[in-house]
Amino acid sequence: MNQPATTSFTPTIETYAKKYPEVPMEVILKEDLLRLGIGITMDAIKAVKNFRQQAYYLFSYNISEHTELDGDTSSSAPEDIIFRDGPYGLRRTWVRIVLNKESPYQIELIDGKTMVCQDGVPIAEAVYPEKPDYYGKEFEDGTRYEQVIPLLYDSYAFITTFRACHYWGDKEECKFCDINYNLRELKKLTGDHVTADAIKNKDRLVEVLDVMNQEPDPNKRMLTIIMTGGSIVRSIKGGPDNAADFNIPYVEAIRERLGRRVPIVMITESQPMDRLTRLRDAGITSHNANLEVFNERLFKWIAPGKDHYIGYDTWVRRLIESVDIMGEGRVSPNMVSGVEMAKPYGFDNVKDAVASAKEGFEYLMSHGVIPHLDTWCIEPGTRLADNPTVPLDFLLQADIAWYETWRKYKLPPFEGYGPMGSPGIAVYGNTASVDMGG
Ligand code: SF4
Repeated sequence: MNQPATTSFTPTIETYAKKYPEVPMEVILKEDLLRLGIGITMDAIKAVKNFRQQAYYLFSYNISEHTELDGDTSSSAPEDIIFRDGPYGLRRTWVRIVLNKESPYQIELIDGKTMVCQDGVPIAEAVYPEKPDYYGKEFEDGTRYEQVIPLLYDSYAFITTFRACHYWGDKEECKFCDINYNLRELKKLTGDHVTADAIKNKDRLVEVLDVMNQEPDPNKRMLTIIMTGGSIVRSIKGGPDNAADFNIPYVEAIRERLGRRVPIVMITESQPMDRLTRLRDAGITSHNANLEVFNERLFKWIAPGKDHYIGYDTWVRRLIESVDIMGEGRVSPNMVSGVEMAKPYGFDNVKDAVASAKEGFEYLMSHGVIPHLDTWCIEPGTRLADNPTVPLDFLLQADIAWYETWRKYKLPPFEGYGPMGSPGIAVYGNTASVDMGG
């Protein structure tokens, strides 16, 4: 490892590399960026031409409000970046950009290079993703193609079919989630933010996917289609009253136009097995009913709508039954990594919180379910907004536990999120658990 320029300040990546010698340095930096967010200077935004800017707005996925950020940062910043090289010789690592004006991390322009800095000390080079050719194409009414489907990590076609959630209010909405709040906020904004259409137009969606599928540059090739949205518990515009019936026409239309080469990951609330079978037969290749947190007491508090409409036991039982329908690697519910420590009812120490997360990994993975982690971004429009940042120790220890359990059960990568298993290989930018190993 090369040493950075002499300074009295020791970056976190260095102190934690001593504390966790078995953890790749890329994992440490990535988790720290995801939990604390990052700022970006206008110079650093202007320094690069034609990069892929923010176009994903299902959740705000930012720590600062849109209105708190300077100028049009919330739409002009890169959607995600690769960090690499720098004084620690880091391997290329994708990470989502979580905007936080107050973060100690900032992307700055130093000697003509965009660099991730911590308190002004350069840590790694920040490489912005190139803008794909389909960005900027327009439908007749001026809607741009990326407003229909953004590309994430140069690989994921990210589709929100229903961008609201029927779980409503304090008694139903998940406490870490700002989907409904964010939709209300977006409706107040103008300009480059995605159109706040609640229901995606099927014909437009297929048209954009068709264009994405023809991308000649392998670096920007669509590896996977991820379809998601809020929960559905009643009829939408007089039509389907459940996520399977609502989404199947989209899936069938995609398969008809694109064939079966590209996987489709479908994220919905837990479904009965007969509906899941119909989704699979229509063409999805993975189904992820996000459990969010394994501890039953916390699930009931944090995801009250899920508990009310489905219930913890049914949710977990269906996850396990889903493996027989979808196959191993194709059932991968999201867990919000760190929400175990949410105040006031979460665990008040890292050791117990990690033990709880680990119990979940063990139980689910022993049944062929591969939970995937998303580091908790504490968004201002949520009911947990006042929580302190999740300790880095929790995130790193949870990543270690996840990786060891995944290896123990000889499980495949969870399908539809690209390669994983080492820094320099993984694509998924919402957790560093996929960068463990190597
Ligand atoms: S089910 Fe929960 S996490 Fe999903 S969109 Fe609704 S409130 Fe958000």
